[in-house]
Amino acid sequence: MFNANLAGGNDMKKRFKIFWKQENNYIQLASVNRRAVNEYNEKTLSTLLFLGWALVLFTLASVPFSNTKADAVPAYLFSFSIFFALFLLFKIPAMKKHTYIGLYASFSVLFLLGIYLSVIHSPDMRATILLGGFVIMPLSFIDIPRRSILFLAFWLVVHTILAFYLKPQYALDDTLNCLCASILGCYLGKTLVQVRLESYEAHRLLTIEKETDVLTGLLNRRKLFETLAALETTGAEKPSGILMIDIDYFKDFNDNYGHAIGDKYLNRFGETIKKFTQNFRLDFYRYGGEEFVAMAYGYDEEELLSIAESLRITVQNTDIYGHYTTVSIGVVYCGDEHVRNYENIIDRADKAAYAAKRAGRNKVCMEQNKMQVK
Ligand code: GH3
Ligand code: MG
Ligand code: MG
Repeated sequence: MFNANLAGGNDMKKRFKIFWKQENNYIQLASVNRRAVNEYNEKTLSTLLFLGWALVLFTLASVPFSNTKADAVPAYLFSFSIFFALFLLFKIPAMKKHTYIGLYASFSVLFLLGIYLSVIHSPDMRATILLGGFVIMPLSFIDIPRRSILFLAFWLVVHTILAFYLKPQYALDDTLNCLCASILGCYLGKTLVQVRLESYEAHRLLTIEKETDVLTGLLNRRKLFETLAALETTGAEKPSGILMIDIDYFKDFNDNYGHAIGDKYLNRFGETIKKFTQNFRLDFYRYGGEEFVAMAYGYDEEELLSIAESLRITVQNTDIYGHYTTVSIGVVYCGDEHVRNYENIIDRADKAAYAAKRAGRNKVCMEQNKMQVK
């Protein structure tokens, strides 16, 4: 007996651990794919609210032809107004960050209506709309399973207590039906959420692979040109400056240490300059062999020059596999210009980098000959 209890306890522990692990896995997947999850939930909320008020309106329209619905008109009107108000409210862009509140509020209205119809309006019948609510809610949107389970459990308890007071003859039936419906809903919902998250994750990894340069880990040339095209065709934020970075005497480096060490060097070089993205609003792209483009956002001329200078100094002082190199950097400030063609800005940054080379290398050169000597 004791052993059986112990085994049962261990089994429960194991199941709880698995549930917890799945929850953590969910939280991790959802956080790296937050954008896709938010987009999905926003779309779902808008559709659900539209369906909510449209279906309640449809039911209200059927009241004159029904013997049973007339008493429920105030409840239908209440639900209609809340759904409609929420529908209008969540059209405001600033409300996008409160999508979960909208989703849980909408389902609370549905559960309130379902409970009212079950225990007050038709206590001599088994619950119907409520059952639908328990199945549909966990399937509708993406959220931590723990939270949707708690939400369902809350409404299940509320309905059960009211049912035992107000419709005792059907209370047990309703409770069992609602419990089965919510277990089914939670199981299907969890599976669906997992599938959706895995597909977002596969898409995210594929995009990273498509946009990343394998050698340096920086964004690749394809991504650079996609970004440039988006700058010219969409409302994407414009960079205030572009830097062209070229490693000095890299051909000699290869000749001295071999191409394989050169490749390793480029890999570590990528890691080194990528660290700048933690402190500055910069995106680095591998433009060509040992040439890199950085797009800087929100900086004025002085700031751009000082970022480029600290980049130059960092490279100069970083020992990569026991070797030191330097870079020449060309900078173009384009914050005040209405730029139409960003490829042209890159050409100008390239010319500035060439000027830095001519000035002796390991230099930062701002367009218009504003030379910064190290
Ligand atoms: P400088 O820029 O200072 O004028 O001299 P440089 O020797 O760096 O000249 P340049 O920029 O024209 O040379 C680029 C060299 O970079 C040529 C090639 O040996 C090397 N390189 C380009 N891509 C790769 C790569 O993927 N791996 C390795 N190991 N070397 C590369
Ligand atoms: Mg070079
Ligand atoms: Mg070069």
